[in-house]
Amino acid sequence: MPLEDDRQALFILRHHRRFPSASHALVEEIGQRIFILTSAASESMDDRLVFFHEREDSSFSAMTTTPAFANLTLIRHPLVQHKITLLRDRRTPTKIFKELVDEIAMLMAYEATSELSLDPVTVQTPLEQATGFQVSGKKLTLVPILRAGLGMVEGILRLVPSARVGHIGLYRDHDTLEPVDYYFKVPSDAAERDFFVLDPMLATGGSAVSAVSSLKRAGGVRIRFLCLVAAPEGVRRLGKAHPDVPVYAAALDRELNSQGYILPGLGDAGDRLFGTR
Ligand code: URA
Repeated sequence: MPLEDDRQALFILRHHRRFPSASHALVEEIGQRIFILTSAASESMDDRLVFFHEREDSSFSAMTTTPAFANLTLIRHPLVQHKITLLRDRRTPTKIFKELVDEIAMLMAYEATSELSLDPVTVQTPLEQATGFQVSGKKLTLVPILRAGLGMVEGILRLVPSARVGHIGLYRDHDTLEPVDYYFKVPSDAAERDFFVLDPMLATGGSAVSAVSSLKRAGGVRIRFLCLVAAPEGVRRLGKAHPDVPVYAAALDRELNSQGYILPGLGDAGDRLFGTR
């Protein structure tokens, strides 16, 4: 039977388990948690997964996936979670916001590059010849979606300096509300490359779907999408349109508001990055 509120869980704990009064705070905490968990159990499966990602999961593994969002990998590294929280804070000034986006992008790229291909190489150590590996870095191409995606480029280039950088510019048509390309430039040998499409916010998914479609039309086949904060709506839309494109995010938030902003989100990423609020 669902509990009405956390006091009911508290009552059950106190009276059926007979906790001593000294453990009052602990009992209260446990009672609240039971209420939260039973409430979550009555939510739809998707909401429950979002809920657990954001509020209840306190054991960190570097990356997690969920069956409800088969295309999504969440980067759960403690440093990433710490920095995302600073990013959400409305008091964080532009300079720090920019630095945090840069750092989070770099940390996410560390995980997202874990499947890049390696070429064997030999090197001469001071003592003898050794065999090692070299990332096929020249084959990686970053494609920021203008303008907020630009904030993620430098951090990733610090890890893979030889990566190339393409650009995709999109605006939203006032009548159709659909994204329209106004700029598109990527290296010509697209079929040979690994692409990371970058946008800090995966909100409705409209721009993401359009950017990936443009990249595929240009010949791109191995494409990943990296964002900082994702909305369930955007992850679903991108997954439906491009099921072959893995999505990496630092947070899966609750929902979109009526203006298409992610809640709780972090506001307008472009404005906060470039100080145009
Ligand atoms: N774009 C943003 O910058 N923020 C949102 O919350 C959604 C889209």
